[in-house]
Amino acid sequence: AKSKGRNCYLFYNSDITLRTTELFVLENSLYYALEKQEFTIHYQPQVNITTGKIPKMEALLRWQHPELGLISPAKFIPLAEETGLIVAIGEWVLRNACAQTKYWQKLLGLPSLSIAVNLSARQFQQINLVEMVQQVLTETGLAPECLELEVTESTAMKNMEFTKDILTELHQMGVSISIDDFGTGYSSLSYLKNFPIDTLKIDRSFVQDLTTSTHDAAITTAIITLAHGLNLAVVAEGVETEEQRNLLLVLKCELMQGYLFSRAVSAEEATRLLKYNKLR
Ligand code: C2E
Ligand code: CA
Ligand code: CA
Ligand code: CA
Repeated sequence: AKSKGRNCYLFYNSDITLRTTELFVLENSLYYALEKQEFTIHYQPQVNITTGKIPKMEALLRWQHPELGLISPAKFIPLAEETGLIVAIGEWVLRNACAQTKYWQKLLGLPSLSIAVNLSARQFQQINLVEMVQQVLTETGLAPECLELEVTESTAMKNMEFTKDILTELHQMGVSISIDDFGTGYSSLSYLKNFPIDTLKIDRSFVQDLTTSTHDAAITTAIITLAHGLNLAVVAEGVETEEQRNLLLVLKCELMQGYLFSRAVSAEEATRLLKYNKLR
């Protein structure tokens, strides 16, 4: 029993060591990923369901690790947040996504094409976030009206007054603000009144069971009604089936994003989608 116990301990111990090593390797290579140009941005269209046109794309970060292959942002974004690397990475994403969008506007004659970029909570601690965004817009020549910054409810709720001030400054510049994963965070609805919000994004978890769960249908309906009542745009995320699309159309949700229309694709593939500029 004693030796078994020891074995168990050893196994447990080496398992932890292995995971720690893995994390260390990941963290270490994350430091060099930017300069080694291992990041790319994929783009997922938001479709206006009544016209079939693509008014906006969401920029989604991808990391091609030399040994580990493609690593999901769900895995490395939290690490980038912990280490503070998200500040430099986030700026890189913003600059590249804005430049790409400006290029598409000119190349394809789509002057009002917009780009949505995710902002993490940690980026609000950066002293010059507003100046950084302003500088990127100036450098790339993208109109502020064509940029939307996505923040989650938990980001908005962190240092509420401070975050609100920064979002207000960005909004005054002409940049749009959207609340990502709406309905999943811990928050009070009162912030909708005080924050300069333009768009609510209905989280994928509600859309997923929309057609089978009366609860999720009720929540989705309520979010759409809320958005319309507050004069906000509303986007349904993670639309995968015709049934979901049809129900959302009945509920008057005009913007949709999901695998039914397109996955997040490379800039080259996105160019092709935009050239055609019509999805269903
Ligand atoms: P998110 O902002 O909620 O992005 C939506 C995620 O859902 C994306 O995953 C997208 O590929 C996926 N998705 C879209 N449509 C569907 C669908 O129909 N079905 C399913 N099952 N999934 C769908 P992705 O690209 O893996 O990104 C995961 C998360 O990583 C993002 O969630 C966002 O929170 C974070 N992230 C990605 N890029 C960035 C970035 O540049 N900066 C920051 N701070 N976070 C990022
Ligand atoms: Ca997002
Ligand atoms: Ca989301
Ligand atoms: Ca999400």
